[in-house]
Amino acid sequence: MDYVTRVHAGHDAGLQRAFDAPTAFGMPAIQLGASEARLLELLVKLTGARRIVEIGTLAGYSALRMARAMPEGGRLWTLESEPAHAEVARANIEAAGLSACIEVLVGPALVTLDRLVEHGPFDLVFLDADKSGYASYGRWAQAHLRPGGLLVADNAYLFGRLLADEPTAREVRAFHEETALRFDSVCVPTPDGLVVGIRR
Ligand code: SAH
Ligand code: MG
Repeated sequence: MDYVTRVHAGHDAGLQRAFDAPTAFGMPAIQLGASEARLLELLVKLTGARRIVEIGTLAGYSALRMARAMPEGGRLWTLESEPAHAEVARANIEAAGLSACIEVLVGPALVTLDRLVEHGPFDLVFLDADKSGYASYGRWAQAHLRPGGLLVADNAYLFGRLLADEPTAREVRAFHEETALRFDSVCVPTPDGLVVGIRR
């Protein structure tokens, strides 16, 4: 970890375990960087978000970052399509002592999102799963965030392919354009772009 990351966004044992888990368990190591995840943590703290939805759990690293910033009584639902990832995430969440406030739902997000509607409206929705779903996930967020709620989306540059003539790139561009219409939004120039929007 480089100097500024270590100084501002360092890991306790629980965060380090979740950060290391993808490599340790042969999963893709595509978790947020420590500084991006710390920014998400600070956004939760700043807004007092207490009902959070995450799409794309992996090993639970970003979920732990957000959950530990929630006020007392906060709840986070995180959606993961790969049962093996969900199992690793649950163990990390348990080890960090946060299983009372984080629920991992297994299945394709388009299916599991339906089951969350009754718990809304939500204060924050974080997108970090399959990019072909971003336009749909963005519409779901628009419908189920409270006014003033936050939409955050990673990989907004689509690994450098955002302007390509291919279906996923068209989906992510639709996500950008619809988000800009319905949210006060910005794409923060992180390594792969991070959209932050406030629902109007
Ligand atoms: N937010 C995590 C990283 C998520 S990586 C972190 O920063 O720690 C993306 C995850 O999305 C992977 O685990 C992948 O299995 C999952 N995923 C892919 N398609 C999905 C879908 N349709 N529904 C739910 N999860 C999906
Ligand atoms: Mg990502």
